[in-house]
Amino acid sequence: MGIRTGSEFIESLRDERVVYVNGERLTDVTTYPPFQGILATLASLYDLNHERRAELTFPSPADGAPVALSFLKAASLAQVEQRLRAEEIRAEYTFGLMGRLPDFCNAYVTDLAVAAEYLGQRDPRFGHNAIRYWEQCRDSDLCLTHTLADPQIDRSKGPAEQSDPFLTLRVVRETDSGVIVRGAKMLSTLAPFANELYLGPFMPRSPGEEDYALAFALPCATTGLKFICREPYDAGRSQFDRPASSRFDEEDAVAIFDDVLVPWERVFIYRDIEIFNTASHHTPGYRMLQALVRGAVKLKLLTGLAFHIADAIGRSSALHIQAQLGELVANTGMMEVLIHAGAQSAASDTHAALYQRSLAGALMILMPQFQARAVQTVRELSGSGVIMTPTEKDFANPEIAGYLDRYLQGKGVSAKHRVQLFKLAWDLVGEQFGSRQAQYEHFYAGDPYVNRARFYHSPVVQQYKALVTELLNGKK
Ligand SMILES: Cc1cc2nc3c(=O)[nH]c(=O)nc-3n(C[C@H](O)[C@H](O)[C@H](O)COP(=O)(O)OP(=O)(O)OC[C@H]3O[C@@H](n4cnc5c(N)ncnc54)[C@H](O)[C@@H]3O)c2cc1C
Repeated sequence: MGIRTGSEFIESLRDERVVYVNGERLTDVTTYPPFQGILATLASLYDLNHERRAELTFPSPADGAPVALSFLKAASLAQVEQRLRAEEIRAEYTFGLMGRLPDFCNAYVTDLAVAAEYLGQRDPRFGHNAIRYWEQCRDSDLCLTHTLADPQIDRSKGPAEQSDPFLTLRVVRETDSGVIVRGAKMLSTLAPFANELYLGPFMPRSPGEEDYALAFALPCATTGLKFICREPYDAGRSQFDRPASSRFDEEDAVAIFDDVLVPWERVFIYRDIEIFNTASHHTPGYRMLQALVRGAVKLKLLTGLAFHIADAIGRSSALHIQAQLGELVANTGMMEVLIHAGAQSAASDTHAALYQRSLAGALMILMPQFQARAVQTVRELSGSGVIMTPTEKDFANPEIAGYLDRYLQGKGVSAKHRVQLFKLAWDLVGEQFGSRQAQYEHFYAGDPYVNRARFYHSPVVQQYKALVTELLNGKK
């Protein structure tokens, strides 16, 4: 089948999915007014694959039909870079503002397929399932999301020790056709607009938590699966008034499984703690690379915006402002270098340890810091400018338009342009949409403290400590 058009994608969402928003069960997610902005963006991303087919697709090994490059199992560094370029084009198209660009989960299931042998080491069915599922998503151009984290409830306890062991998604029983699961998972960005939901390893499991050690995927319209969404942030304001949230509000939902049947052919890990906790080490990390590429584009956007704001209020020549702006440029450049180092790991058979470390460190440690720094810089440079931003309707009112044009002008820019810049800034760093973006960037790859502590256990620490010992012993 190959890549779909935007209208085919929209049509595919008219199914039996159960989605609640603001107290209401939606009968058709495609007609709900607050979803129109993001649906138009998603549809245009599907059309983009047709418009830029040479850069964004490759021929499917199944039938030669063009399929998205984010599904490519790369056989060389050049092919990894081809993947990355396609992901960059699509991240640029959405200004890095969609953490759950469909490309991310495409990369995720491609990682899964590369790890098929590892997944199938005890039961080959699971490895075969991972490959078949990746082929199906690729050739049908399905839109996926994932939900990995357990609901918070009481974090001092594991999932089996909660007041009710069925709060976190787990096995209820097996049947001939599959496994029945019950419980919840948090969060699922993009869920109302996805065709498929993937669940897999994230929080490590301990012995006794076998029923929680699962990986599987289901159509979003599966019986018993329900999504309860957060309040949408797109309130139908114009693109002038809400330049980002009017187009890129991806939505988030809690996924609830009320005794849902997962067919055996959709299961990738089943009650296996060792495989659950280690499967990600056996992947090339395509999903991490996509996430870094997307994040780097957003850093460029925020950096560019910070420069525009400094220019628009006549502050660009001040040394301390140049230092703040220069730091953002340096951070963005560092991220690009790390992405290319990570690409080498994805291209190698062994997934070289040094590059794996740089890839994980870039995503889990540097990216959240750089995003937060860019947001802080935009806020600091803006002053009150981000608050005093009259609406498009104010500029259209002849009684006050003259005053606005006169008193809100900037250095060499019209009042309207200056206000537009500050509106974008506030949408990205201050409004509901911007605050959610900040929260997302902080937790995108998991909790940053937990992630830092992972490096505490790195084998290289022994080498670093040995240097100290050698120096103290007067060696070298
Ligand atoms: C906007 C947004 C969108 C998201 N979208 C998705 C998605 O599409 N799919 C998905 O799977 N997930 C998604 N997530 C969830 C994300 O993976 C989690 O937020 C992240 O893994 C952190 O988990 P948590 O939110 O449960 O916070 P917690 O892990 O509960 O962290 C809360 C606090 O506890 C602290 N803490 C953590 N561990 C310990 C410890 N051992 N001891 C003491 N303190 C500790 C943390 O530092 C933090 O301060 C999304 C999150 C956000 C904010």
